[in-house]
Amino acid sequence: MTSPIIAGTVPVSTLGTPRIGPRRELKAALESYWSGRSDAAALLDTCARLRAANWARQASLGIANIPSNDFSLYDHVLDTAVMVGAVPSVYGANEGSVGLDTYFAMARGSTGDVATCAHGHAHDNGAGVPALEMTKWFDTNYHFMVPELERGQRFRLASSKPVDEYREAAALGYRTRPVLLGPVTFLTLAKSRDPGFDPVSLIGDLLPIYGEVLRRLAASGATWVQMDEPCLALDLNAVTQAALREAYGFFAHALPQIQIMLTSYFGGLGGNRDLALSLPVAGLHLDLIRAQDQLDDVVAQARPGLVLSLGVIDGRNIWRADLSRLLDRLEPVLRRRGTDHVEIAPSCSLLHVPIDVEQEADLDPEVKNWLAFAVQKIGELTTLATALSYGRAAVEERLAASDAVVAARKASAKVHNAAVTARLAGVTPEMTRRASPFAERRLAQGRRLSLPLLPTTTIGSFPQTGEVRKARAAYGKGALDSAAYEAFVKEETARTVRWQDEIGLDVLVHGEFERNDMVQYFAEQLDGFAFTKHGWVQSYGSRYVRPPILFGDVARPRPMTVAWWRYARSLTDKPMKGMLTGPVTILNWSFVRDDVARSTVSRQIALAIRDEVQDLQAAGAAMIQIDEAAIREGLPLRPAEWQAYLDWAVESFRLCASGVKDETQIHTHMCYSEFNDIIVSIAAMDADVISIETSRSKMELLGAFVEDHYPNEIGPGVYDIHSPRVPSVEEMTELLERALDRIAPEQLWVNPDCGLKTRRWEEVRPALVNMVAAATGLRRRL
Ligand code: GLN
Ligand code: ZN
Repeated sequence: MTSPIIAGTVPVSTLGTPRIGPRRELKAALESYWSGRSDAAALLDTCARLRAANWARQASLGIANIPSNDFSLYDHVLDTAVMVGAVPSVYGANEGSVGLDTYFAMARGSTGDVATCAHGHAHDNGAGVPALEMTKWFDTNYHFMVPELERGQRFRLASSKPVDEYREAAALGYRTRPVLLGPVTFLTLAKSRDPGFDPVSLIGDLLPIYGEVLRRLAASGATWVQMDEPCLALDLNAVTQAALREAYGFFAHALPQIQIMLTSYFGGLGGNRDLALSLPVAGLHLDLIRAQDQLDDVVAQARPGLVLSLGVIDGRNIWRADLSRLLDRLEPVLRRRGTDHVEIAPSCSLLHVPIDVEQEADLDPEVKNWLAFAVQKIGELTTLATALSYGRAAVEERLAASDAVVAARKASAKVHNAAVTARLAGVTPEMTRRASPFAERRLAQGRRLSLPLLPTTTIGSFPQTGEVRKARAAYGKGALDSAAYEAFVKEETARTVRWQDEIGLDVLVHGEFERNDMVQYFAEQLDGFAFTKHGWVQSYGSRYVRPPILFGDVARPRPMTVAWWRYARSLTDKPMKGMLTGPVTILNWSFVRDDVARSTVSRQIALAIRDEVQDLQAAGAAMIQIDEAAIREGLPLRPAEWQAYLDWAVESFRLCASGVKDETQIHTHMCYSEFNDIIVSIAAMDADVISIETSRSKMELLGAFVEDHYPNEIGPGVYDIHSPRVPSVEEMTELLERALDRIAPEQLWVNPDCGLKTRRWEEVRPALVNMVAAATGLRRRL
């Protein structure tokens, strides 16, 4: 056994904890408040209880640096915008503190009726004051409200939330380390309507507000503040680097009584390392999960007094860590720097993992034993800190348990499937190539399908009404038997197919009524996945997701969609698209095993989907759509890493799509994306038809496809499915005309932006009737 390193205890930090409550208490409280069933006092009371429980839990588990202000009613970026008074004028409230109504209007629009698209992005419904735009928080599945700043923006202190919550914790006996979103990351995330204006240039105006917050925190007793600057994981331009220097120079000078723990996460410091190490801060946090290689260089370069916070427990994934191996790495660092100058932490805030694996009574005990959610991760952190402070002997049992789990997971028959490994090894380049080039395939498909010009179709799902969800829930609970549930879904499907036929759509879909979610539905039928009951993580505001846990080799024991396709096909003579979710999307929306490369996992899923594609073809499907909604969002943060990702992502798609005959038409669908950066890779996917989201950009997003001479067929969405508004025939005609200015009629499909599952039938019916009218009207003129 190693002897203790140095007397003194290594402090543990969590950087932030889940806000939602072990039983989604925050969601319930918010929804109740929004619907008017309860008042603000009740909502705020629930929030205070959640915070108190979080602090108590961390204190009882031995966390030294307990965060405060990591809680949020909706989103911490929105909190920061409100704190600095960056409230766009449409929301009013340009003096005094910002109240709940304004806050929620910024979050959800003033009607409070936020529409959600099939993959969980929310958008304002077009009536009343719109919500702020929302986008992904770095490369996570958490979405934040994008601050809007303008030239000459005036800032003011408009919320004392960080100070209030610090004091609230203090009153309960917890001395916390408040968390603030750093000013530079805040500005880099903000947008301006004026494209020539860089919000980062506002740093000088913003700093006094932060200074005032720090001053009040200090006056309330805070000595340390955690400043989150995840922008340090991005490639930063000179202006942003200068802003970092200015900001942290200002704090050091104006608020010497506050020690700042500057936190970088979601990646290594990369080219920002020298800059980060030169800033006059008291501590620097490193993400050593995404970038473990940076440790040695940082340790070598860091000035002696700088406290290094070592993010060694994965804050983005749910596997128990190999604690002994971590200690092998950490002990030399501790010897070198001493316990006073090191903290142990997760790689990033624990916001991105579920709360407590002990809530999962039904999980396979073997798999459950491999998992660590927030509570278990805190346990791992304290085990590491104890071992570092008092020697491994002090936590002998816990280390032995960790070793045993690591060994068991490695050896488990559940994880390894020799047939999958063998099949993967046998993948040849030919398997990722269609037999003929697109030009030839299109002829074969044209002969088989004889579609009109500007064929009309939809993206797959039709309204998941309350009735549909109720039936599924009843089936899940056992209140509805499988025969009754199936009969119900058949009825919905039949009605939807007949209706599409009636209104004259050219290519039909079955409606996806049998699916709870476009990823979970497949994951549930594949080997290698497990599911939680309470493993929710925040996607945005009150919307949480429960990602499947991909723990082992993926295989498809039997067809997953063929029976439903066949049934739907039997109801019509029109082409019926088969509907699948692609490998990269399944991967990106799951918690993925960390013992093999993501590219390998992706190929495994691709082979499973490939089998499904073949089975659909054998059953007679002439068109198969493989959705890759999440391909863009899986892009690494640093462009230097993009190509490697895109290579395997594209290869995975091609692997699942290429086993078919020329006359089988492969479609794919992508949600709203900045396509410009990745258009070459999208083309390389070589789908015969791609549908994309373009209606809100008035076809601007089509530009990327035009400029790069995208060769295959395209369906640029003409119907904004995020809004309940029914687009008129004229409006959609105009969008199609714009599209026809840019691409040939033979290349153009007519479809909505995305699936219709979040819309109501009352909206979908007239909208699709209009869409068909727009297409047929235009067709006559061509
Ligand atoms: N086929 C899916 C649907 O229509 C696609 C959704 C998505 O890409 N987000 O719901
Ligand atoms: Zn979509």
